[in-house]
Amino acid sequence: MNAVSCPEISKHLVFLGGGHSQAIALRLLGKKSWQNVRVSLISDVVYTPYSGMLPGYVAGFYSYQECHINLRRLALLAGADFYLDKAVDLDLVHNQIILANSPPLSFDFLSINIGSTPNVDSVNGAANYAIPIKPVPQFLTVWQDILSKINSLSNLTITIVGGGAGGVELALNIYARLFPLIGSFTINLVHKEDNILPNHNRCVGNILYKLLLEKKVNLYLKERVIEVQKNKIICDSGLNINSDYIFWVTNASPPNWIKNCGLTTDEKGFILVNNYLQSISHSHVFATGDIATIQNYPCPKAGVFAVRQGKPLFNNLTRILSNQNLLPYYPQKYYLSLIGSGNKRAIASWGNLAFYSPFFWHIKDYIDRNFITSFDQD
Ligand SMILES: Cc1cc2nc3c(=O)[nH]c(=O)nc-3n(C[C@H](O)[C@H](O)[C@H](O)COP(=O)(O)OP(=O)(O)OC[C@H]3O[C@@H](n4cnc5c(N)ncnc54)[C@H](O)[C@@H]3O)c2cc1C
Repeated sequence: MNAVSCPEISKHLVFLGGGHSQAIALRLLGKKSWQNVRVSLISDVVYTPYSGMLPGYVAGFYSYQECHINLRRLALLAGADFYLDKAVDLDLVHNQIILANSPPLSFDFLSINIGSTPNVDSVNGAANYAIPIKPVPQFLTVWQDILSKINSLSNLTITIVGGGAGGVELALNIYARLFPLIGSFTINLVHKEDNILPNHNRCVGNILYKLLLEKKVNLYLKERVIEVQKNKIICDSGLNINSDYIFWVTNASPPNWIKNCGLTTDEKGFILVNNYLQSISHSHVFATGDIATIQNYPCPKAGVFAVRQGKPLFNNLTRILSNQNLLPYYPQKYYLSLIGSGNKRAIASWGNLAFYSPFFWHIKDYIDRNFITSFDQD
């Protein structure tokens, strides 16, 4: 193992959240440690899910282990202390992270990669009666509960709110899992715009639109949910849909404490960082993945960016700890999205192009499995 010597003695760097970027940074730290630096990881889970494989897990293509990273092990290999706890606030005056179940943890440098969750606060009743796709562990508990009692459920109805890539992928993969198990079930997909997947080119949306119809998913477009009640959603058009389960897969949002802790944020409350992945207001704080917005280079909240930021994050943390100049990171303008359709096929979306075939599922499967197993090889 190589060691990078950092002149400052006994600095404490805290990784908050074991998202994709920090999992990579920890893996790199396991190979090239920082001397004279204490490192800690705070995570509210031991096993962090890899979102790219989550729909495949729902469909039954992957086991739990195959799509989760063991953060405790990763921290151990990186020589970092592991705190299983949830951050609930940040005190930037005293440089402390406020934790739900333990005393505050002080830091000299902080790196935040806590992801995002669908916004359940903007619609009346959603926080009480809808099940957000994130935090993933809570969603998976509900999903496992459905599967465990599947034979006793008659006319199961699931409604998914949100017609972006996550919502559509979820609908198709739920279909794939339920179809062989029960004869009669209904999946509804409700989306506020007139086209699904508005962040992709029209061909991608058209392919998935046809697939949803083929699988008899009831598609409700241009329907804005204004209230969620127990087992029911109400849309502004007057449409009411009764449902056993309401899954919430709407736009990503940050936790309120991030918005209020004093870090400069964008208009939605995500931490504004520069191209060094460093907070524009607090130079000892870094942020990556969904929770960060790069000033002047906004990009979609997608795991592919969180992954790409892992190495630049590690490099810049190494550099700041050893008083070297930081290196800029620029997100790529065009990126390949591989969207699984629940039938071991995938759609490749690249700029204005779209391709749909089993080949792209194999590519996606290969890339995703490689990503996960890269954390087990050390
Ligand atoms: C169904 C679905 C499918 C998707 N598929 C894809 C895809 O195929 N490709 C793609 O690019 N994107 C995909 N996305 C988007 C992707 O999920 C996110 O962009 C990605 O997970 C963001 O990664 P991250 O590293 O920022 O955070 P995350 O992967 O969300 O990790 C954050 C980590 O921080 C932890 N954490 C959160 N809050 C706290 C706290 N307060 N204290 C301590 N720990 C905390 C979490 O438990 C988690 O371990 C999908 C999203 C959904 C909903």
